[in-house]
Amino acid sequence: MSCGYTGRHFGATYPDAACIDGELWDLDSCDEPGGALHSGGDIPCPRCNTREYVGCLMDGYDASGNARQRRRARRTLMRKVRTRATCPPKETT
Ligand SMILES: [Zn+2]
Repeated sequence: MSCGYTGRHFGATYPDAACIDGELWDLDSCDEPGGALHSGGDIPCPRCNTREYVGCLMDGYDASGNARQRRRARRTLMRKVRTRATCPPKETT
């Protein structure tokens, strides 16, 4: 199942990631067009798995602030991610 999200998450200049079951998969990791994807599944989807995704981003964050600052940073990130993740994908399937 997929929410239909696509985005740039694997270093390409075009949308190279697609949501499958709430995780992002590398669209360039298949052997043939339409084939199975071999790489991915460890990045939460920003659209339908926003909380997990933000949690991942927060892991890389400086944890030196107090709990209140971290909560604020998390909220800001959630807003940013939601806004970005609701952009309609450019490609149609
Ligand atoms: Zn999704």
